[in-house]
Amino acid sequence: MKNDDPLMRARWPLSVSRPVVTPLQPSVVYASHDPDALDDQYEGGLSGYTYAREGHPNAEVLAALIDRMEGAHGGVITGSGMAAVTLAVLAYVQTGEHVIGADQLYGRSLRLMKEELPRLGVETSLIDATNVDAVAAAIRPKTRMILVETVSNPTLRIADLVGIIALAKSRGILVAVDNTFTTPRGLKPLKLGADIVIHSVTKLLSGHSDATLGYVAAAEPDPRLSTLAATMGLTASPFDCWLAERGLYSFELRFDRAVSTAQKLAHALDGRVSRIVYPDRPDHPDHHRLHEIPLASPGNMVTFEIDGGRDAANRFVRAADRIAFAPTLGDIATTLSHPATSSHRALSEKERAAHGISEGVFRVSVGCEEPEALVSEIVQALSLV
Ligand SMILES: *Cc1c(COP(=O)(O)O)cnc(C)c1O
Repeated sequence: MKNDDPLMRARWPLSVSRPVVTPLQPSVVYASHDPDALDDQYEGGLSGYTYAREGHPNAEVLAALIDRMEGAHGGVITGSGMAAVTLAVLAYVQTGEHVIGADQLYGRSLRLMKEELPRLGVETSLIDATNVDAVAAAIRPKTRMILVETVSNPTLRIADLVGIIALAKSRGILVAVDNTFTTPRGLKPLKLGADIVIHSVTKLLSGHSDATLGYVAAAEPDPRLSTLAATMGLTASPFDCWLAERGLYSFELRFDRAVSTAQKLAHALDGRVSRIVYPDRPDHPDHHRLHEIPLASPGNMVTFEIDGGRDAANRFVRAADRIAFAPTLGDIATTLSHPATSSHRALSEKERAAHGISEGVFRVSVGCEEPEALVSEIVQALSLV
């Protein structure tokens, strides 16, 4: 760089003081000094960026921050949570092998299991991840991976992670944990012995519903993850990474506030709805697992059921009109979702019923509003149904 040119000096300042915020670096491509230098860069002798799909500073900063939270090394940022799930499976599973997945996985992960992996010659089975005997019964000689979510949507069932990890280790099978709902504040799966951890960073970690991103890390740092992400084009844009980094700095504060309000909400719903699902209630079917795994937090999601079918569901949502009725989670503002018409609409009514998802089931992703106001908004809307 010729630093006698004032324009060049302004674009790449040689400042003795540094910015306190990570610079946003949207450059798709990086200019090298000469062919020798570029050759060295590609050979790994010199370190430097070449092309943004292969890596860029904003993804690297975000990956390092999430690595630190998860106790991981060499995590990879992807362009969405689903890109992270896809990457985790394609990096480790070959045609002819078998993958076991939880039957309550995120909707698109279920479709990956049911439609896309079989198309690629990968066999799949879906099981109840709260029952380690069901997992054991599904294992075949070619089983390569078990894919589970720590806490399921929307029934908030807690997988028997301790049992599944012990079983998988004894059989040489990888365990991949989608930790989106639980977050590293609740559990660090790699520390528990999982082989791979996955996040939809879009949700709680980023926290402002303005960036679509994922993260995947392996217990044994593996360059195949970043190589495959670059080859298949699963990597993320600098701007999304920059937004997510900004969100991540307040993640712990947001999460703790949201969890404390979720506890208040779960308590306030008592007697006002026909069913309340929240992991730290003694009537939750996996309550014991909260302490057994253990999870450090019961989370910010509260699920409940009202009587009266679709009509009552419509009335409730209209009455709670200050809460966004939107099929996502983890935003700084509370969102309300109705699984029967959104996340679980691809299932038949009978399949939904088998998971306890009726027309009256709602899932609240509790946000950071003033707790009393939020709880009273919901309680009041329920009284109008
Ligand atoms: C949202 C979500 C995903 C997918 O993430 P995207 O960023 O929307 O692609 C995967 N797993 C879980 C548990 C999710 O909630």
